[in-house]
Amino acid sequence: KVARVPLIAGNWKLNLDHLQAIAFVQKLDWTLKDARHEYGISGSEVAVFPPFTDLRSVQNLVAADKLSIVFGGQDLSEHDSGAFTGEISGAFLKALDCTYVIIGHSERRTLHSETDEQLGRKVVAALKHGLVPVLCVGETAEDLEIHGPSAVPVAQLRAALAGVSGTPNLVVAYEPVWAIGSGQAATAEQAEQVAATLRATLAELLGEEVADATRILYGGSVKSTNIAGFMRQPNVDGALVGGASLDVTEFASIARFQK
Ligand code: PEP
Repeated sequence: KVARVPLIAGNWKLNLDHLQAIAFVQKLDWTLKDARHEYGISGSEVAVFPPFTDLRSVQNLVAADKLSIVFGGQDLSEHDSGAFTGEISGAFLKALDCTYVIIGHSERRTLHSETDEQLGRKVVAALKHGLVPVLCVGETAEDLEIHGPSAVPVAQLRAALAGVSGTPNLVVAYEPVWAIGSGQAATAEQAEQVAATLRATLAELLGEEVADATRILYGGSVKSTNIAGFMRQPNVDGALVGGASLDVTEFASIARFQK
């Protein structure tokens, strides 16, 4: 068995322009360093997902000051180049030193009608360019009532990995749609149950080794006051944080929890 390095990922959504991003990342770095000094070394990797227009500034800051913060895009195109107005390719993200890219966030699925098939192509595109997909899956309140907790996330995972083989480096984020931005987080036990089912599905699709190495995050109203419960679960390897990632102090205190 491999020890999975926990990941605390902040999805900024449509918040913070490039100047605000510089100030934020600087302050986050100081705060994380202070917290490490005070509480000991946190074993978690810390990632931020700024808007595309911030990435060049974040790249420069991280490189110049040798920060131990990584970053990624909130989406990518399934295409590499061409007549796709408004799109950003995996190659462009990789050229800006992005480690990760979020794929299939529920807001993209809902507001931009992204389908499971399209998300599968995005996963292939991300891997092709050496980006680690942070693949988001999760059920709505209605799905939960009709199908139970795991059916929809598992179906979404299967669809998104349809074109993937070998030993991909990927992260799966279980984000129940009813918990996102609602203040109503899943319980740690609910998150663990779905994460365990997702890991079993990964084992079936890509083998035990990939299932063992893949980080599965919980996302949905994570805060410094509930992170500890999620981190205690054996199959939950960190969190994808929306609202609380926009407050430096709050995000840093989420990131300092040990696995
Ligand atoms: C998200 O949008 O990925 C998310 C988890 O949001 P929040 O933390 O605000 O619920």
